[in-house]
Amino acid sequence: MEVPRVEHGTGSPVSPGDDMIKNLSLDALQLTEREGNKSQDNGIAEMEELPVPQNIKINNITCDSFKISWDMECRSKDRITNYFIDLNKKENKNSNKFKHKDVPTKLVAKAVSLPMTVRGHWFLSPRTEYTVAVQTASKQSEGDYAVSEWSEKVEFCTADYSTVHLTQLLEKAEGIAGRMLRFTVFYRNQQKDYFDQASPSSDSRELQDNQMLPAVKDNSGSHGSPISGKLEGIYFSCNTEFNTGKPPQDSPYGRYRFQIQAEALFNPKTNLYFGDFYCMYTAYHYVILVLAPEGSPGDLFCKGRLPALDISNNHFLTCTQEEEGARLVFHHAQDVILEVIYTDPVDLALGSVEEIQGHQLSSMSTLNAKKDPSCKTCNISVGR
Ligand SMILES: [Zn+2]
Repeated sequence: MEVPRVEHGTGSPVSPGDDMIKNLSLDALQLTEREGNKSQDNGIAEMEELPVPQNIKINNITCDSFKISWDMECRSKDRITNYFIDLNKKENKNSNKFKHKDVPTKLVAKAVSLPMTVRGHWFLSPRTEYTVAVQTASKQSEGDYAVSEWSEKVEFCTADYSTVHLTQLLEKAEGIAGRMLRFTVFYRNQQKDYFDQASPSSDSRELQDNQMLPAVKDNSGSHGSPISGKLEGIYFSCNTEFNTGKPPQDSPYGRYRFQIQAEALFNPKTNLYFGDFYCMYTAYHYVILVLAPEGSPGDLFCKGRLPALDISNNHFLTCTQEEEGARLVFHHAQDVILEVIYTDPVDLALGSVEEIQGHQLSSMSTLNAKKDPSCKTCNISVGR
């Protein structure tokens, strides 16, 4: 059942198994000083102890909510007025411990019937591992709480962005996409080795029998993107320079460029999906699109996970045919950098490889790029 949102708590005693008083806000600190963390320390020792939550279950996990339930002994159950929920990001060896030390993570919830939904709390980010413990509490006349022991800790991981969240992101991206410019080719820059199958350092997993093979997408972009680390594809670009109408001569990814006529990858038999919208602490915004041949494994992966776009009418990448039998015409959005992921293998023989005349601007690479969580243009209220 749905219950009211859990308030951001200030009234919980110290957390289970640690002494992180710093975790608590000022109110809670005062509370902690006045009482112990067990009900018998509270001057009401004659009363029975509150039941400790047992067998905690977490269900219906989304990117910013979960349902929690547990078992309790019946004794003193009617004295319970609140639940205290201690939610913590699971310790990660690489995380900056100093950064999160002072973050209060205790939630105080009214004692409602279980399961209880915890939703929209600012502390909940997509695709993040948490530990959670619960205690039962009874509000005393003086405003203090008598509390049970903490329950055992359980772990769970929040889900990826749902299509609802991705649609919000899509709408934000539409707002800045700008006018459409014509283009004719998709291109992909790599180091020389990538295209040289005889080279000992050639990565045979990415190029075989003259075919570029899909690889698992990196972790660039939004944290919680359902395609990161899951979708397999090949990155292409299609942006052109506004003054020449041609691809730029510089690239972050290498001096060798594979170039292919747009209709080979994008035509009425291709489905187009919105994948992501992000920036990385610069003025440039990136939109990830997925081009999946109808019915391909990539297409099946994207269906239901990503918002589908009309190939002839959207704000980012279009393929149109003026009249029956005429050539296809392609346009891309001018004000965002498009990263197009094509989900099927691509035969090198369908295009050509040439060396670019410009520079390799490695600093512009978006490989595993971390999204700027503070940018108002490309963040929705959920997670980071
Ligand atoms: Zn941004």
